[in-house]
Amino acid sequence: MILGRHCARNCGFCCIENNKGIFQPPDKDELLRIREAVKRLGARKIVITSVTRDDLEDGGAGHFADCINILRETNPELKIEVLVPDFQGRAESVETVIAARPDIFSHNVETVPRLYADVRPMSDYKRSLSVIRNAKKKAQDTDIKSGFMVGLGETEAEVYSVIEDLRRSGCDIVTIGQYLRPDSKCLEVKEFVTPEKFERFSEQARKMGFKEYSSSPFTRSSYI
Ligand code: SF4
Repeated sequence: MILGRHCARNCGFCCIENNKGIFQPPDKDELLRIREAVKRLGARKIVITSVTRDDLEDGGAGHFADCINILRETNPELKIEVLVPDFQGRAESVETVIAARPDIFSHNVETVPRLYADVRPMSDYKRSLSVIRNAKKKAQDTDIKSGFMVGLGETEAEVYSVIEDLRRSGCDIVTIGQYLRPDSKCLEVKEFVTPEKFERFSEQARKMGFKEYSSSPFTRSSYI
């Protein structure tokens, strides 16, 4: 996770602390540390994600691109996935990250639109779909991925609708997993979704033509 330990947002499912308006500039040494970690681990794939940095003009897109570039220079075979914030919907920021050519560009919608007020109060479902759409428009040959949690109070019909919205926005890979409360300050689990229901979500993803999909209680966004 890059761009600091604190986030500018306050999602109800996440235990990362809000930065309460205190921002640090991106740490350039972070790039060197990531490169060193990948080397030492002998990693063949890396997922780079970040907190949301609404204070930065580009939302941290340039720092994502720098990470991709330094890792590519070091190991051209490394598979690089980026899981990015919404960059407040800025198409130029999406373009900056896409231009660095990650293997997978990922942005999670996290939940169904009706629950955004509690689950992602500072985010916007349509804006997140626009991130996916803009990424696909700029890079037809890059895999675009998204994911969301279930068990937060959504209906089955709402889940189908999100699966359809994602596919129509150009998403190629989708992950659907059970929400588990990371901390007592976070939202409560409303439902433990049955494996049969997860199967039905998989079936919907298959019908919609996703290139890859995973829907199960333990699916997480970096699962595939
Ligand atoms: S934007 Fe991401 S890191 Fe920030 S609170 Fe929400 S889920 Fe957590």
